[in-house]
Amino acid sequence: MSDNLLQSLNKSQKIAAEHIDGPLLILAGAGSGKTKTITTRLAYLISIGIDPKSILTLTFTNKAATEMRERAFSLLDNSMINTPPLLCTFHKFGLLFLKFYISELDRKNNFIIIDSDDKKRVLKSINKDIPTALLTSEISRYKNSILSPLEVKSQAQGKLYTEIADIYALYEEHLSKNNLVDFDDLLLLPYKILKNNEKIAKDTSSKYQYIMVDEYQDTNELQYRLLKLLCTNHNNLCVVGDDDQSIYGWRGATIKNILNFSDYFQNAVIVKLEDNYRSTDTILHHANALIEHNRDRLGKKLVGTRQKGSSIKVYESNDENDETRKIVEDIKSLILSGESAKDIAILFRVNALSRSLEEGFNKSGLNYKLVGGMKFYERAEIKDLIAYFRILINLSDNFSIKRVINKPKRGIGTTTIEKLEEKSTEQNKSIFDLIQELNAEELSSIVGKKNARTLKVFDASILDLREIMNTSKMRLLDSFEETFDYRASYDNLPDGFERQANIDEFYGYIRDFFIQNPHLDLKDFLNEIVLESQNDEYSGEAVSMMSIHASKGLEFKHLFIIGLEEGFFPIIGDGTDLEEERRLGYVALTRAMDNLTLSFVHSRFYKGKRAQLNKSRFLVESGLVKGSLVIEKQSGFKKGDMVNHKIFGSGRVEKVVNAGKDCKLTINFGGQKRDILSSFVVKV
Ligand code: ATP
Ligand code: MG
Repeated sequence: MSDNLLQSLNKSQKIAAEHIDGPLLILAGAGSGKTKTITTRLAYLISIGIDPKSILTLTFTNKAATEMRERAFSLLDNSMINTPPLLCTFHKFGLLFLKFYISELDRKNNFIIIDSDDKKRVLKSINKDIPTALLTSEISRYKNSILSPLEVKSQAQGKLYTEIADIYALYEEHLSKNNLVDFDDLLLLPYKILKNNEKIAKDTSSKYQYIMVDEYQDTNELQYRLLKLLCTNHNNLCVVGDDDQSIYGWRGATIKNILNFSDYFQNAVIVKLEDNYRSTDTILHHANALIEHNRDRLGKKLVGTRQKGSSIKVYESNDENDETRKIVEDIKSLILSGESAKDIAILFRVNALSRSLEEGFNKSGLNYKLVGGMKFYERAEIKDLIAYFRILINLSDNFSIKRVINKPKRGIGTTTIEKLEEKSTEQNKSIFDLIQELNAEELSSIVGKKNARTLKVFDASILDLREIMNTSKMRLLDSFEETFDYRASYDNLPDGFERQANIDEFYGYIRDFFIQNPHLDLKDFLNEIVLESQNDEYSGEAVSMMSIHASKGLEFKHLFIIGLEEGFFPIIGDGTDLEEERRLGYVALTRAMDNLTLSFVHSRFYKGKRAQLNKSRFLVESGLVKGSLVIEKQSGFKKGDMVNHKIFGSGRVEKVVNAGKDCKLTINFGGQKRDILSSFVVKV
């Protein structure tokens, strides 16, 4: 039984699966069977008689957990999994743990988890001035860095951050008083309990004798510390990861966890898997070529096990309509030739790019689903804009007025809105008319003086914009922004980039509609998009569309990646990390099994206007498109130097090539040559 079970593994995978006691790091590139290896290992441990209850496997998403459970269980007889092993997300594990132990923090175990909307509501009730998105992300960052409100306060610089530290303290107080926990608490509170109570740490560690983690490159400091505590009584931690696929740096994930694995967990065995079973050789060749441009890497290479396969297609199109048309045609013929829609996916770096695809799919009747994301017209910022435009067309649209009367924030709270609504029903008038017809004094008596003034200004602005809409529609969007600063209200917010990209895409689309249809107006546009976004209730399989982040760990027979233009992929600007963008490129390319198509356009909506774009440097770096790139030059090591590498051991430098601040070294490790950046080795 046990041997059969390992039959489908290669030699290195087998070594990893059969490794029982002691720390194990499986370090391997995309598609090399990491997930397959640990799911097989899980089944193997059970098959040799290890109690399933003593095995804990942790992942990042529920989808991944479900898939792994299915894979592992399919290898076992039902009788062996009477009590199934715990295989879940980090957060789920935290929840189960807290159910048992939260009393250690003087709290009751009937606590309630709040989701991100609840969290925003709580924060809004504490503070109205600082953007909630900023508060949410800062507090999450503090918790994941294990910083208490007091510590944050003592380190805070400037008025804003001191204030955020105070809000953090009030927020924590609110949670504990009402016995609530947020997502971050699901990791932080178990950590605190385990850290402060050795007995519980020992008991828990004895309970879970074997621990495994998939996608270890995306763990953060808190997750590492939690794992360390779970290993109080043993060192049986098996992690799998790929430094080249670390794409959550912005959320605090640190590749340090992989690099220092053998320091953190003594006597760790490292197994490297280099054979890729997923993609054709052609796809691998270009994925390898791309990632080699990164400096910060351990220097792995993927070796194909499959045929060369068909060549990668690169589509060059005039604009997004042209791009969509080509992709829709390709997908239609794939489906006609008998391929299943679920084997097809389209990836993009920026979610705003789904708009033109969705339009194309809806028009052609192709079924699609947005994985891990919302359809374009369901995104909050787009709904807000549509609500504004509906008001311009129909002043009595109370529903839309209520939606945007305080967006961007102008101090109109829910009580004021309720009062207005009550009065509007009472007088049988729309909210808009009510505000307009009452004089300042009457209105003040209902909502107070300050609100009355704000509402009057709002009404007048709407009327002005209506005038502009009717006389010179091409000026409408600029005037709308000048009046309400809607787009700017997302400046400097953590999720601002994606939201503004959606707004820009929408504005660009409206302007284009007016140019293409000089005789049509805003009302026609709104009607058009209602029809366009109506995706008939198709049954059956759907083509997947998703962001590259959401595609982690997945594979598709036919893959399309769109938007390969500078500014869209890589995103360029303040705070973007080009190496992380490139890792995203690598993740994207390595999702493809058989056929890969990349696409770039000459023009797309950028910052709300149609703009000329340059093709992505990634197309050049991956060797798919000819072009030249500027590489900084500086010198480093010399041929013949002996060096030591944390993972690969000692070797001799055979070649030195300058690359950025570092240099790329070709090192001979006992006969095996590898290209590695100098910052990852030390001279011996
Ligand atoms: P990622 O880094 O993208 O998460 P991974 O390393 O986890 O990839 P898997 O998803 O486990 O890779 O495997 C990729 C594909 O290769 C799967 O379809 C899997 O079934 C197949 N595969 C893995 N190992 C083998 C093997 N030894 N023989 C045949 N197929 C294999
Ligand atoms: Mg995987």
